[in-house]
Amino acid sequence: MIRAAPHFWWLRWLSSAFWISLTSCAGSSAPTAPQPGGQPAAARNVVLPLPEEGHLADLRQLTFGGENAEAYWSFDGMQLILQARPATAACDRIFRMSINESAPSLIPVSSGKGATTCSYFLPGDQDVIFASTHLGGDACPPKPDHSQGYVWALHDSYDIFRAKADGTGLVRLTDTPGYDAEGTVCPKDGSIVFTSVRDGDIDLYRMDRDGKNVQRLTSTVGYDGGAFFNADCTKIVWRASRPKPGAEADEYKRLLAKRLVKPTKLEIYTANADGSDPVQITYLDAASFAPFWHPSQKRVLFSSNYGDPKGREFDLWAIDVNGTNLERVTFARGFDGFPMFSPDGKYLAFSSNRATAPGSHDTNVFVARWVDSAPKPVAELPADRIFADIRWLADPLREGRGVGTTGLAAAGEYLEKRYRDLGLAPAGDGASYRQPFPVTTGVKVLPETSLKIANALVARDAMAPVGYSAPGEAKGEVVLAGYGISAKDLGVDDYDKLNVKGKIVVVRRFVPEGGKFEDRDAQRRYGDIRHKAWTAREKGAKALIVVDAPEPPRDAPKDWKPPEEAPLPELHAEGYSDAGIPVVVVKRAAAGSLVDQLAKKKPVRAELKVGLEATKQDVFNVVARLSAAAPDSARLPGVVVLGAHYDHLGMGGRDSLAPDKHEPHLGADDNASGTAALLEAARQLALQKDELRRDILFISFSAEESGVLGSTHFTRAPPGNVKMGDVVAMINMDMVGRMRENRVSVLGSDSAEEWKHLLEPACAKARIECGGGGDGYGPSDQTPFYASGVPVVQFFTGSHGDYHKPSDAPERINAAGAAQVVVAALELAKAADLRETRLTLKKIPPPAPRGDMRSFNASLGTIPDYAGPPGGKKGVLLAGVRAGGAAEAGGLRRGDILIRLGAHGIASVEDLMYVLNASKPGERVTATIVRDGKEQKMDVTFQESHRPR
Ligand SMILES: [Zn+2]
Repeated sequence: MIRAAPHFWWLRWLSSAFWISLTSCAGSSAPTAPQPGGQPAAARNVVLPLPEEGHLADLRQLTFGGENAEAYWSFDGMQLILQARPATAACDRIFRMSINESAPSLIPVSSGKGATTCSYFLPGDQDVIFASTHLGGDACPPKPDHSQGYVWALHDSYDIFRAKADGTGLVRLTDTPGYDAEGTVCPKDGSIVFTSVRDGDIDLYRMDRDGKNVQRLTSTVGYDGGAFFNADCTKIVWRASRPKPGAEADEYKRLLAKRLVKPTKLEIYTANADGSDPVQITYLDAASFAPFWHPSQKRVLFSSNYGDPKGREFDLWAIDVNGTNLERVTFARGFDGFPMFSPDGKYLAFSSNRATAPGSHDTNVFVARWVDSAPKPVAELPADRIFADIRWLADPLREGRGVGTTGLAAAGEYLEKRYRDLGLAPAGDGASYRQPFPVTTGVKVLPETSLKIANALVARDAMAPVGYSAPGEAKGEVVLAGYGISAKDLGVDDYDKLNVKGKIVVVRRFVPEGGKFEDRDAQRRYGDIRHKAWTAREKGAKALIVVDAPEPPRDAPKDWKPPEEAPLPELHAEGYSDAGIPVVVVKRAAAGSLVDQLAKKKPVRAELKVGLEATKQDVFNVVARLSAAAPDSARLPGVVVLGAHYDHLGMGGRDSLAPDKHEPHLGADDNASGTAALLEAARQLALQKDELRRDILFISFSAEESGVLGSTHFTRAPPGNVKMGDVVAMINMDMVGRMRENRVSVLGSDSAEEWKHLLEPACAKARIECGGGGDGYGPSDQTPFYASGVPVVQFFTGSHGDYHKPSDAPERINAAGAAQVVVAALELAKAADLRETRLTLKKIPPPAPRGDMRSFNASLGTIPDYAGPPGGKKGVLLAGVRAGGAAEAGGLRRGDILIRLGAHGIASVEDLMYVLNASKPGERVTATIVRDGKEQKMDVTFQESHRPR
């Protein structure tokens, strides 16, 4: 087959001598070879593996002559079921054999009518399945017409049958028109994965062992077949041939209409057992097929003619499921294929031409004891290098590469060394690779911080200011404002009928149980202490005290007890600006009576002082220059930037999506993957520098997760003699390690007129499908570049359940996919590099939302600069405004500092977010901005937001 018939025919074709001998095999030209079922001398049973075949030991030959292939183990490991062609037969039949005899007999299973293929035991070994054409007639089906090159036929008469192991009790399992074959079985429930043309393409399906409950598993155009389950049936592995759109796809469809397939190239894929998250694991550009899971379940053995320029030498190969550690397993001349491990993982059955008489092309079944040793990769592939870098960067020793950690500094040093070793010149500040800039890494509480309630001093360890508390003091009357929530959308207002102007407000921490706050988003949004602080400030409060003192629910039983108290919040730096008022959180024991008294409307006074000091630390971008080496006459002005951020979330914090976990957020995909891909791109481009007409800058950015601070710093103060006007394009890679279905998003590909045109050949060369689009204001380091007038793109393989969680680990990385992204990104960089004329920057409005989407929030269309206004001033510095957005329409522009929106003061990005969340699309307000040091007022009308901000 392919793993089934078509494959086997194909092999016969690929070796023309083989083919001829097999077509004449019916007349048998191998007089010495015993026929299947014959009894050879026992001494021939033992065969020596070749010296290079270190994984094979105790090799035994089990069949002797003719064609025997696709031998698959019974579940008790005592038998094999296979297809073989007896000398007297014109097509393959199914046999069984015992594994323990020195020269086992072939016990017939199929009746001898029609052609049969692809047999497999069902759990319990009492029943078997195979595909057969006998319902279409007793004769062997005609061979395809090879006048149009090598093709295999998908005989309509193939259906899958179940039978007792002795061939009796035949039951038909598939009855749709057309080819159904290539069935293998899940060891757990006996369900069957198989190949069928029932929906017009050649795809994988799964059915129960009785043929019911059919589910389609693949739906991409092209041949998908020969699938196997892994041991616990959570995954499948298979081979696929995917014609390129255009002529190749047309030819594929033309042949398919005639029930023919021309298998030019086959690659190995894995997916979840329901077909979701398909991943291509080989890009060998060869005929790779018959994959089977290694006992570790992390590696796959398969057959391939990779490495043979004539494509005729097939061997067993192995590769990790992430596309690394490609290893050649067999070295015999001719064909080795159809590997399958025994259920205990100790033995390997496979089919091979080895150990046959000279001139003979018999294929026989062999069994070896598997020697499991560390793989010896044939060569270091790009995927191997990328994965090694990802593993190093995402090691827990790097502490999640959070700003301020030694892990991040070590990562920067590692990158610096890698660029140096690749021969790239330092292009940071001074003559170094580094471009340092300060970031706030933490806050320190100063000794004057204190709280007095009703003249009694609260113990210092029973209270804590939050990191974004404004420094200062407040004294006076205290007012209880429930949970401190004022949420029009939920119809909740804890400030209703309260006058808190100039007062200290006490609120309960978190949100009320259940009811309107069932929704996690509402819990997160309104439970956020910073949001409560903003609300209190907006209402005129001069300070905020927060206590975890939940209110008893309305229907609470008498003995209701509040849930256990949450610990005081950890002190984190957050944003570039404080909340505008002092904010402290107090332990329940220290403030419980305060809340009780206030609830009973008894007046209480408080006095609080908060002193905080931000701790700052330098982090650094790593900047390296690859000098173009084209002749001077061909040199062009400008540089191309390739970038990726190397920082991540450290131990978690507010950007973590697993906020309760204080452990290294490994960031293997985000963005060790892009960082490693950037190194590989540098390596490959350095080898092509003679072609380059412009220099290329490689920038590993820091502090992206804190709000693209590294790229912002670079665009504000480019190091060396670089000017932002010199940058002809910026290509960013952020999260490129989880490619599925060979698809990558190229965000921002509408930011230059030429991108789409240049992307097409780049992605075709990488054999991946590039989607995407949109303007250059994306969620990563390309944004400051686009805001500075540079055409940008971001390669991105999509989000996933481990995003911003500690579980974003190297084990889930698709290194083979990342290597293909590198090909696309560097081809795109070269295209931008070699163009005589610069790319044409495009400003486009964001796409209209697809479908009828409800919009909740107002949008202003501003791109905030997360480093904040210069000199630590309050307000939101605009890195840019979206084309067609509310801000642009109102006259706001890049460089403006927004300080007021309607009635709301805007001191920080957080303030802006809260104001927009509380506003409605269509509302018209006055925006106050500072431009060139002067305040100006402009009217803006909020638009609908379909994005987070
Ligand atoms: Zn991230």
